[in-house]
Amino acid sequence: MLKSPIFSSSRPVTLQASMDHKPSKPDPPKKRVLVCGGGVIGVCTAYFLSKKGAAVTLVEQSSIACAASGKAGGFLALDWCDGGPLSSLARASFDLHRSLAQELNGGESYGYRSLNTLSLSVTESENPPRGRKSTIPDWINGPVKGPKTIGTTETTAQVHPQLFTKKLLEKAVADYGVEVVIGKVKSVEAGDGEITAVVEGGGEIGGDAVVLALGPWSNKFTVLSSVIRVHGLKAHSLVLEPREMDAISAHALFLSYHPANGGPPMDPEIYPRPTGEVYICGMSSEEEVPDNPEQIEPNPDSIRVLKRVAGTVSSHLGEESRVKAEQACFLPCTDDNVPVIGEIPGMKGCYVATGHSCWGILNGPATGAAMAELVLDGHSSIVDLTRFSPARFAGRTR
Ligand SMILES: Cc1cc2nc3c(=O)[nH]c(=O)nc-3n(C[C@H](O)[C@H](O)[C@H](O)COP(=O)(O)OP(=O)(O)OC[C@H]3O[C@@H](n4cnc5c(N)ncnc54)[C@H](O)[C@@H]3O)c2cc1C
Repeated sequence: MLKSPIFSSSRPVTLQASMDHKPSKPDPPKKRVLVCGGGVIGVCTAYFLSKKGAAVTLVEQSSIACAASGKAGGFLALDWCDGGPLSSLARASFDLHRSLAQELNGGESYGYRSLNTLSLSVTESENPPRGRKSTIPDWINGPVKGPKTIGTTETTAQVHPQLFTKKLLEKAVADYGVEVVIGKVKSVEAGDGEITAVVEGGGEIGGDAVVLALGPWSNKFTVLSSVIRVHGLKAHSLVLEPREMDAISAHALFLSYHPANGGPPMDPEIYPRPTGEVYICGMSSEEEVPDNPEQIEPNPDSIRVLKRVAGTVSSHLGEESRVKAEQACFLPCTDDNVPVIGEIPGMKGCYVATGHSCWGILNGPATGAAMAELVLDGHSSIVDLTRFSPARFAGRTR
């Protein structure tokens, strides 16, 4: 049995002003699209599909943004993917984040802001330098050196990923009538122009097309695992609430961190957020993705290391900070490190959007907008999707 929709709204009704009393042509029926997966990719896809006029049902097995899309950093960069296959997707998506923020009251409710970005070298065993470089903000008072500005307020920005994903869905529900169902999709069947998603417990949802945005769970779905391979890379994060948040400036930090025990350097990241918290992430490892996102537990050693990193970089992030979250989640990665966005070969009406690895929050909006065009118009004009086609893996799977 399906649980009842957690969000619902009546679909918008178009009132025709028929001053001349001519019989008006009935609107063509809306295309019904199922979106499976309530992470940032599924939600952005549902948003743009519904805004373009589709009747969308989004199905999520657990809760919205319960996995990587709720536990990511939310760092956005305009040009860091330049020169690679993601360049045009990333540039389009950076701009879309800006226009979505304008649409959603400046993005204040989900911590959207432009910020400067520094790279720094940190050597745990050293003392803080005596003469401070003026490029290093005062709150970074640990043993750091070699600051480089690697992003400015023109080229880097951030969102709180969970708040962003939930806010966008809220708008899609309220303004464009998206329906949300909580239930685990067991399989998808296509036949006679109708797509059916079979949901655990026996429910079925019908549509004209389906978009599978299942992140690192894609591999557990036969329709997808027979065509592409998506593996999960586990990564850890910590969310702190420092006592003196006002002292902490809007700077994202990319570290080259040298531990005191002489172990290999690490590359953790630190993002202060306008929502009154500081996010620290790093420490990744290959691990099996559990069936249920609620079962993903952080490794205590990894969390201990992240706490040490935070306290070494700044006394504001030391033991006096309140620990708001210690967490882990899985990056969805493909074999060639390029997302898969397109129609599944041999399955008309079945689309996939996943494999965004460490750039899913950045690339969610352009992926959703491009997918909406592909499903409803047959091609995408916002980004050329050829490079992302699942057809590139044909004949290469297990
Ligand atoms: C530590 C960390 C930091 C990161 N930082 C950044 C960053 O700063 N900037 C950036 O751009 N990206 C970042 N990322 C990457 C980003 O988080 C991911 O690329 C993105 O969240 C992937 O989104 P998704 O929707 O594909 O997958 P997920 O967020 O994993 O969502 C998939 C959803 O599908 C649901 N699902 C799965 N199977 C089923 C089923 N059978 N039925 C129904 N629902 C199902 C799951 O429950 C889940 O909610 C980071 C990732 C990590 C791990």
